Amino acid sequence: MALEDMRPPIETGCPDGFQYMHPMLRRNFGLWAYHEDPQPGVLLHVAKSGEKVWTVRAGTQRILDIFTLRKLCDIGDQQADGYVHFTIRSNIEYFVTDEAKVQPLIDALTEAGFIVGGTRNSVAMMSHTQGWLHCDIPGTDASGVVKAMMDELITEFKEWNMPNRVHLTTSCCQINCGGQGDIAINVQHTKPPKINHDLVANVCERPSVVARCPVAAIRPALVNGKPSLEVDEKKCICCGACFPPCPPMMINDAEHSKLAVWVGGNHSNARGKPTFQKLVAAGIPNNPPRWPEATAVVKNILNAYKADARDWERVGEWVERIGWPRFFEITNLPFTKYHVDTWKGARNSLNASTHIRF
Ligand code: SF4
Ligand code: SF4
Repeated sequence: MALEDMRPPIETGCPDGFQYMHPMLRRNFGLWAYHEDPQPGVLLHVAKSGEKVWTVRAGTQRILDIFTLRKLCDIGDQQADGYVHFTIRSNIEYFVTDEAKVQPLIDALTEAGFIVGGTRNSVAMMSHTQGWLHCDIPGTDASGVVKAMMDELITEFKEWNMPNRVHLTTSCCQINCGGQGDIAINVQHTKPPKINHDLVANVCERPSVVARCPVAAIRPALVNGKPSLEVDEKKCICCGACFPPCPPMMINDAEHSKLAVWVGGNHSNARGKPTFQKLVAAGIPNNPPRWPEATAVVKNILNAYKADARDWERVGEWVERIGWPRFFEITNLPFTKYHVDTWKGARNSLNASTHIRF
């Protein structure tokens, strides 16, 4: 086939964001002089050219129905300059170049039921995974946890009460797209998978399931005359990695799939290294629809942070300064031997082969 007859590639992925940007932002891209925080939920950016733009931020539920999205866009057309932006923490942002439009825009958002806030030293909207809508492996409804917790943290979203910004995250499984956060609420399976041997041969590609296990706990086996798999339960760390490629290895369990809370995670940026979050509370019941136990742990940590941290210390920096013993003392969270990972036996149990896994 001649080159000119070939079908051009279909481009996928994110479109170029510049075409959707407010013209003032486009004009001044990379040319900002400074920014200020005039009030909670509002940012003022001043360009080197002297031009000013106010950003008004409101929380949304991330997975938006079309009616809510239309309502938000109408507010942007009527009260702002007709451009919106979604942050990675599910906030919608509007831009206005006229300061007189800021308060009417906030009033319109508030009247429509949206909460303005989430800037500077507040608790930002939680970033969450949304497995119950589109994924095949969730152990909880992360977006439901967000709703339940943010209902109780709404004042902290609207006001500047925290020592520094607080990023919360929730994840609906233990292994995949969850993020780092100052406080992260993650699924924690506590029992090895239960295998339905009648289905394994028809549903699972056994070599790839064996290769998925990070501690080499899965072996091929013949059960009732059928090819299946078996799990060495002494080695299994209940991570759930075998469940996505092999749904007959069911690990989700109403009683034994719990939530765990981790603190101090932070992505790296131009000024700082990444910090890894650390486990502080485990075995919390996965208790829909309001998850009161998990919410109580998070509020407890936030209250201790608010009372004890210095100005502009992030959660992880605060814990590093006061030390982990003091953290457990003032939050009253039980500290157990399971909080300490000594990596004892890791050389034998970790899967150390170099073959590529899918
Ligand atoms: S966190 Fe896990 S279950 Fe949730 S969407 Fe991501 S991969 Fe799926
Ligand atoms: S993949 Fe994870 S859950 Fe499955 S057997 Fe291995 S350690 Fe256990």
